[in-house]
Amino acid sequence: MPEDQMPEALAAASSSLAELPRPVAPAAEPARIDWPDTVTVTHVAHWTDRLFSFRTTRPRSLRFRSGEFVMIGLMGDTDPQTGKTRPLLRAYSIASPDWDDELEFYSIKVQDGPLTSRLQHIRPGDEIILKPKPVGTLVHDALLPGKRLWFFATGTGIAPYASLIREPQTYHDYDEVILTHTCREVAELEYGRRLVDEVRRDEVLGELIGEGFADKLVYYPTTTREQSPRMGRITTLLEDGTVFGDLGIEGGLSRVTDRAMVCGSLPFNLDMKAILEGHGLREGANSEPAEYVVEKAFVG
Ligand SMILES: Cc1cc2nc3c(=O)[nH]c(=O)nc-3n(C[C@H](O)[C@H](O)[C@H](O)COP(=O)(O)OP(=O)(O)OC[C@H]3O[C@@H](n4cnc5c(N)ncnc54)[C@H](O)[C@@H]3O)c2cc1C
Repeated sequence: MPEDQMPEALAAASSSLAELPRPVAPAAEPARIDWPDTVTVTHVAHWTDRLFSFRTTRPRSLRFRSGEFVMIGLMGDTDPQTGKTRPLLRAYSIASPDWDDELEFYSIKVQDGPLTSRLQHIRPGDEIILKPKPVGTLVHDALLPGKRLWFFATGTGIAPYASLIREPQTYHDYDEVILTHTCREVAELEYGRRLVDEVRRDEVLGELIGEGFADKLVYYPTTTREQSPRMGRITTLLEDGTVFGDLGIEGGLSRVTDRAMVCGSLPFNLDMKAILEGHGLREGANSEPAEYVVEKAFVG
């Protein structure tokens, strides 16, 4: 694709590939420290009665590393006693990559949830608020170099990987990238399935990363309730070796070659930690990179 048709930040990134691992982000403006920015919703897609995704404008001052999360939300109700209105904010993984001119989020709809009972009704043109302080451990910087990168997700835990599978560094740093996503029902896999399909066909990413990059991306969806071609919890399928058999990986996970990111419910994360540590992988952090990293997809 000619550079004049690319998103602004991506065009900049494509002309400075040598500077990877940090693709160029939009030009920085002075950071606003304490008060959230307002962003405008540009697109909303409802996937099931419990899941939706949306895109927003991106503050030019917002720089982040693919995989990080920010606080987003809406203004809360006005306190009748004080007359004050406070923002109602929740942690959200940024599902778009760092080079994208817009931001994308993938969200649960909790019917009595303080934020998502309202957020699920947003439409293009509405404003939401965003605290421009991205943080998180599901970042390349928190992992030591390896050959094969595993993204393990349940439910909305796929959101940070929606960012990372569109991040050029992912393919520059690894020979193989395996995204596993486990949900109860087939429809809950659809956001991820469609995204993987789009990434594989994305001409801009192909030009930026190099032809054949998509061959490195392996998608391994499973369901736990509804019948689908691959059933079962990923933890069970790892423990009984099914995953390795399906993917033709001999010898299972190795501390030398395998790196992993984990994002799901607390019980899932704990089960995955036990499995990864059983294979000799150690938990890393921004301050001390190692072989795997973990983040909660939600609290509770
Ligand atoms: C680091 C981090 C990143 C997060 N990223 C995302 C994200 O990208 N997308 C997203 O939808 N949520 C994400 N969350 C959860 C999010 O912060 C909110 O909890 C969620 O938006 C619901 O907000 P609420 O105010 O409606 O309900 P809350 O009061 O926050 O939650 C009510 C209950 O709903 C359940 N719940 C909340 N979030 C989820 C979820 N994502 N999946 C399943 N059950 C849930 C829990 O049981 C929780 O106790 C993240 C949380 C953390 C800690």
